[in-house]
Amino acid sequence: MPGRNWGIIVAVGALFLAGCGMVSPPQQQLKNTSRSFTTIVVDAGHGGRDSGAYRRYGPPEKTVTLDVATRLSRKLRESQFNVVMTRTNDVFISLDTRVDIENSTPNSVFVSIHFNDSRRRGVKGFETYYRSPYAAELAQNIQNRLCSIKGAVNRGVHTADYRVVRKAIYPAVLVECGYLSNRSEGHEARNGDYRELLADRIAQAIVEQRHGPGVYHAPAPAVVSQEPPPPPAQQQKRKPVLAPPGEGPGLAPPTLTGH
Ligand SMILES: [Zn+2]
Repeated sequence: MPGRNWGIIVAVGALFLAGCGMVSPPQQQLKNTSRSFTTIVVDAGHGGRDSGAYRRYGPPEKTVTLDVATRLSRKLRESQFNVVMTRTNDVFISLDTRVDIENSTPNSVFVSIHFNDSRRRGVKGFETYYRSPYAAELAQNIQNRLCSIKGAVNRGVHTADYRVVRKAIYPAVLVECGYLSNRSEGHEARNGDYRELLADRIAQAIVEQRHGPGVYHAPAPAVVSQEPPPPPAQQQKRKPVLAPPGEGPGLAPPTLTGH
């Protein structure tokens, strides 16, 4: 009975389309805050029982994502942005909770920090992903800034279906800060100065996305320096101070150059 079969096919198709609508906001719901945002939701990938990529010779991905996200948050606050971190310690946060945080933070953009993994140890480089067309420029800016690091390999900017970018209403990007499975990038990921550099380039891209080129001032101390490293007492002071999610500078003056 072909008529009945067609009815089933149409019903199943309608359900499928309804399902798609639920998992991904329709185009008209997407908000273009890519040049007006005042808040950045900084998402440290993985956490708690979800270690992410894990190699014997390096820290688990969840540890280095949290470190880069914390450094990035500090730099963005110093540039007078509000910052919401999806996690500030080693806890498991579901992807749906991360999405809820990003979509309930008004006038924001979302930046998720990850490191990559491959069975082929030779694979290395930076990749940045997005879904909303309004996030394309931010993704490209972050990728460009990361690829200005000496020796960087550019693996490109791509659209992707990762849940945190697919379900985002505001512009959302996911940054893969190199391969922990690669000997040199895994080694670099263990270095605090290198993670500071990663955070600095991502912060620069975000600040320039909002305010234009040339306005970003790397917070002191300088990240790349030819001078010998400071004594341990001074290094202690460089450690970022963790603030709970949602605590930003609030009504800080809108200047970027006053420090
Ligand atoms: Zn990851």
